[in-house]
Amino acid sequence: MKISEKHVVTINYTLKDNDDNILDKSDDGSFCYLHGASNIIPGLEGALAGKSSGDEISVSIAPEEGYGIRDEARIQDVPRDAFPPEQAIEPGMQFHAEGPEGQAVMVTVATVGDDTVTVDGNHPLAGVTLNFDVTIADIREASAEELEHGHVHGPHGHHHD
Ligand code: ZN
Repeated sequence: MKISEKHVVTINYTLKDNDDNILDKSDDGSFCYLHGASNIIPGLEGALAGKSSGDEISVSIAPEEGYGIRDEARIQDVPRDAFPPEQAIEPGMQFHAEGPEGQAVMVTVATVGDDTVTVDGNHPLAGVTLNFDVTIADIREASAEELEHGHVHGPHGHHHD
């Protein structure tokens, strides 16, 4: 079986930046995704298409095919009193905020001043070249329900109440 749309794919991977820092890894068979459903970044999904179980690939993905390029317009100053006064605000903290179209976005605190907090709405990996070493652990057909939902069910997939 080769990876194509409507397949559930399990991969083990190591993700590094260009300085060889490990950004993320999964090596216990717990990461799976539904191919063709935009569950993973486009550059990785494209690199995996047509591969077979047991194949190993190394792929370098430019930010445009990963988490996007950094957008300076997503860096904003917010009044300190927009945050709960009892909460200590420190660089690196992440909050859910509302984006320009009302969508939920994750923002990261960049700097904290006396009256102003600067938050960055870029994905933490925006602008980063992503170097993946991937082993394809398993490929199976997706169920009708998984296709309808657009995600994987089962022990390592999506759980519904
Ligand atoms: Zn579901």
